[in-house]
Amino acid sequence: MTGGGSAVVLEEKKATKKINTFEVAQLRVKRAVEQLCLPMDVYELLKSCDRVIESALPVEMDDGRIRVFTGYRSQHNNALGPYKGGIRYHPSADIDEVKAMSIWMTFKCAVAGVPFGGGKGAVICNPRELSEKELEKLSRQYMQAMAPVLGPGKDIPAPDVNTNAQVMAWMADEYCKIVQCNSFGVITGKPLDMGGCVGRETATARGTVYAVREAAKTKNIPLDNAAVAVQGFGNVGFHAARMLADGGSRIVAVTDSSGGAYNPRGLDPRALFEYKKETGSVKGFPGSEQIGNSELFATDCDIIIPAALENQITAETAPKIKAKIIGEGANGPTTPDADEILKDNNVLVVPDILANSGGVVVSYFEWVQNNYSYYWKETEIEERLELKMVEAFEHIYNFKSDCLNTDDVTMREAAFMYALKRLAEVMKVRGWWG
Ligand code: NAD
Repeated sequence: MTGGGSAVVLEEKKATKKINTFEVAQLRVKRAVEQLCLPMDVYELLKSCDRVIESALPVEMDDGRIRVFTGYRSQHNNALGPYKGGIRYHPSADIDEVKAMSIWMTFKCAVAGVPFGGGKGAVICNPRELSEKELEKLSRQYMQAMAPVLGPGKDIPAPDVNTNAQVMAWMADEYCKIVQCNSFGVITGKPLDMGGCVGRETATARGTVYAVREAAKTKNIPLDNAAVAVQGFGNVGFHAARMLADGGSRIVAVTDSSGGAYNPRGLDPRALFEYKKETGSVKGFPGSEQIGNSELFATDCDIIIPAALENQITAETAPKIKAKIIGEGANGPTTPDADEILKDNNVLVVPDILANSGGVVVSYFEWVQNNYSYYWKETEIEERLELKMVEAFEHIYNFKSDCLNTDDVTMREAAFMYALKRLAEVMKVRGWWG
């Protein structure tokens, strides 16, 4: 194992100016292969996705017109088990982003110790502009298009940005009609009555909070007195803020896509949630100052939780960060050049593939329960999730400490290397290389 070649760093820095998210993901994998001194065959096997599908999804809109949406599914690698990953509905979703996120899922599942590979899906759409009926038709069309490559033993989608249990229910129902049997294990994140798992909705945030808690211990930061800034106030951001506030942390800054709220004495996440429900944004929350993302990242705080979209912490914002810990609730929120700056400034970044793996861990619990048709209690889910998150954090933290040149290896690099080691071993034993 080496501390990482400077040529790779240079290549990464040069590339960052113009790279897209897929290239970022490839660079991270390449770097891990080089750091572990594995043969380039391993990189060749992991740099591309096994299968990428683009499909036209025609929907008859409420006014009778036909609108054709574009849907994607990327299946990156299934060495450890069936492909697994969410489906995102977003107007700016694109194929490179989907491919990148499927790579991250392969590594996330390996870090989390769940028997899945990596997949991801998206539909280019703005769900806020669609009626419920249109959303249902679109979701069913997506399943019609992708059903041949999905299945409980093949590829198991889940919710992501702008998709929820209802969307999963429509898709699962459509799949059951196609295969003519109730096969609920095809999708996770479903409603409870349809084989969903208690605690799935809050699982990603809960996992992020556990990971941040473990990170805080290593930095001697008392979590019950920590100041926290949260970017994004949706599923992950809201629940993480709520759970941290319940544990005594002060949520000093929150932003969403329309603006932000800052109060150094602390914002009440539940009140903020109600306010956002009424007004559509956290912006203008009574008693708070209005801020944007750049102010949020520069906030005087101990911990930042990015829980919005990718490429938010950049070379521009990273130098202003005063927090000692970043817990990546979002996927890919930090660019590679920002990573270098944060490393130099001794900021501990708990990477996405570890920090937000709680969602896929509980998705795994849901899939197991579906396969057995036997359902666990919420306390069991929470206990098992906590065990998995603490175990994953310790594996990565110890792996980082065991690396020859510890200072040179970030938690992200350690996580990628740890996952890669597992992937390389299973691919070798399956006869894919070596
Ligand atoms: P969500 O749609 O529920 O919430 C996203 C939030 O981000 C919204 O509040 C939105 O207003 C905000 N946002 C969007 N653009 C923003 C911007 N430019 N600045 C500030 N805020 C902005 O989505 P989510 O499920 O909470 O997912 C958030 C992130 O977490 C995504 O990166 C997703 O891939 C990742 N993630 C989610 C899960 C899950 O189980 N939901 C699991 C793993 C990873």
